[in-house]
Amino acid sequence: MEKQLLDGHVVSKEIRDDLKNRVFKLKEQGITPCLATILVGDNSSSETYVKMKGNACEKIGMKSIRIHLPEQTTTEELLEQIQRLNDDTNVHGILLQHPVPEHIDERLAFETISLEKDVDGVTSAGYGQTALGFGKFPSCTPAAIMEMIHHYQIKVSGKFAVVVGRSPILGKPVSAMLLNEDATVTTCHSYTENLPSILKQADIVIAAVGKPNFIKGEWLKEGVIVLDAGYNKGNVGDVDFDSCYQKASAITPVPGGVGPVTITMLLKQTVIAAEEKLNTMNQIA
Ligand code: NAP
Repeated sequence: MEKQLLDGHVVSKEIRDDLKNRVFKLKEQGITPCLATILVGDNSSSETYVKMKGNACEKIGMKSIRIHLPEQTTTEELLEQIQRLNDDTNVHGILLQHPVPEHIDERLAFETISLEKDVDGVTSAGYGQTALGFGKFPSCTPAAIMEMIHHYQIKVSGKFAVVVGRSPILGKPVSAMLLNEDATVTTCHSYTENLPSILKQADIVIAAVGKPNFIKGEWLKEGVIVLDAGYNKGNVGDVDFDSCYQKASAITPVPGGVGPVTITMLLKQTVIAAEEKLNTMNQIA
């Protein structure tokens, strides 16, 4: 059986090359796409993620504003900061790095981000629009998974897709997006019974569990397509790569699969937000 490694770096480079041109054109018209990131507290992995996102912006000519608030920031102070960014006409996308410290009302903070700047797809309105099939900015990992599927021309319509995980930023939205593309979708979670027997029927498996090497090759059927969104300590995915590779016709590696495309989707959605801003300005003028 022919096997295909679904390479996130290839997909990412193609999109970023296109984005560089779009950023250049926007700058010619006086707009520099700008992503504002907010980090609250001193979680070192979160700091690394935020830095990576800011650097990725700069590499394609975008601007990034990094706001780092102290651990003891209150919900009200965070909301004020988000509101300032909502009102700032030079900011096109807002990303609140999560998790935020426990004393902060994270949901309220997400909901305060204005919909047209919600490039990370965290507001309930953004999620609802994605689920209904007309969302502009889905959350970035589901968007990356769909981008990989489209890039490699993987047939989704009529296929049985099993998503393992139902988090609001990953499992749920990607399930809705696959359904919107006419897959038959089953979403599994920690209460799911007989997970291996469900997976055995899957044509497409999306792993979003948060447990290293969790999905085993013996649970899968021959020829399955596996997209692993997992990212665990030691650069390990949620899929047991070696055994799943034996069964799969196409599979994403970790690292180098869904991960690099996720950040690229954040850039892409911020560029789209800036393009929409320009369109609105042109309509008013
Ligand atoms: P999460 O919020 O912890 O959700 C994990 C999901 O897996 C939950 O829905 C949970 O079910 C389910 N689950 C846990 N144990 C299970 C089991 N034994 N059988 C079936 N389902 C089970 O995690 P997340 O934020 O969605 O992230 C998932 C993975 O993606 C992690 O490895 C994370 O590092 C990675 N991730 C990657 C990116 C990227 O850029 N590539 C971005 C975000 C996340 P319940 O709902 O019942 O608890």
